[in-house]
Amino acid sequence: MGAMMATEKRQAEILDGRVVADAIKREVAEDVRQLKEAHGITPGLAAVLVGNNAASEVYVRNKVRTSEEVGIASHKIVLPDSTSTEDLLNVVAQLNTDEEVDGILVQLPLPTHIDEPCIIEAIDPAKDVDAFHPTNVGLLAMGHPRFVPCTPAGIIELLDRNGIEIAGANACVVGRSQIVGRPVASLLLQRHATVTICHSKTRDLPGVTRQADILIAAIGKAGFIRGKFIKPGATVVDVGVNRLTDVTQAREFFGNEADQRVAAISDKGYTLVGDVHPAEADLVAGRRTPVPGGVGLLTVAMLMRNTLQAAKCRRGLSAQD
Ligand code: NAP
Repeated sequence: MGAMMATEKRQAEILDGRVVADAIKREVAEDVRQLKEAHGITPGLAAVLVGNNAASEVYVRNKVRTSEEVGIASHKIVLPDSTSTEDLLNVVAQLNTDEEVDGILVQLPLPTHIDEPCIIEAIDPAKDVDAFHPTNVGLLAMGHPRFVPCTPAGIIELLDRNGIEIAGANACVVGRSQIVGRPVASLLLQRHATVTICHSKTRDLPGVTRQADILIAAIGKAGFIRGKFIKPGATVVDVGVNRLTDVTQAREFFGNEADQRVAAISDKGYTLVGDVHPAEADLVAGRRTPVPGGVGLLTVAMLMRNTLQAAKCRRGLSAQD
């Protein structure tokens, strides 16, 4: 009876990232197959991992595994924490001229002694499948993107493929990072949403976010977006990936799922939570993305699509070839 009542309380529909990511990966795999058949080309992705950041290791492993799944050749380059900016520039220079490499991904964040902007600028913009190079950032800002950064592109796919109308909607993005906040705001604007960007200096944040039909949270703070931040019925996209180790907090955040999450904490020491308070969001939002199982899966799928596109563009082939 108790479980039934708790189930009845849930309102928000869960936007399953896996369904959309799997569909995109199937499309990419079919395109890769055709590219091989028609032109003898196998797209190649080089993934560069520097140091021992546990989360980065997981991300790179997933990217390499997904490349294999869709038929993209992956080249994983693991460098020690002691790698200097100059060493890494040399690696990037080699990858820029390597004919087997269509996409270069340098997993961020880099160790703090490495000059990150300098590395990003050294990547050939035609192989910059993360779309962080200033040329690609500029093209996106002008509304003519060559590559769209993977997480923002995945968010738009998730909205589109779930039939959520962007044109005319009030969209609010909390976070203004180069990787997520700014580019997703730019894409939403290109798709004719009325866009508000919030950040740590925004006044009356809940008052602003509560206007949003589409609310994107890219903050990096566990469960920060509570029920009072959300307009009833809104679509809430949770980009945050935070490791939660506190059992009491897990019980507070996860409602029906709490036992499962507490078990994960005792098994591996943590469970993942987004920037949105899931139990509170479920009572107010119309739809929300889960963490894990939401935006993160889309990010990897879009990286595959960008790599395929890079392989075609570099050889003068159009997206339809
Ligand atoms: P970031 O570079 O640290 O930026 C965080 C943004 O949140 C900043 O713009 C900051 O404002 C804003 N912010 C911080 N505290 C705030 C507050 N109290 N009120 C309002 N805004 C606040 O983070 P990011 O790289 O965009 O990443 C955000 C989250 O998304 C992280 O959890 C990250 O792990 C996750 N992420 C997930 C994926 C994925 O594939 N799922 C991809 C990338 C990132 P200021 O600019 O004023 O400091």
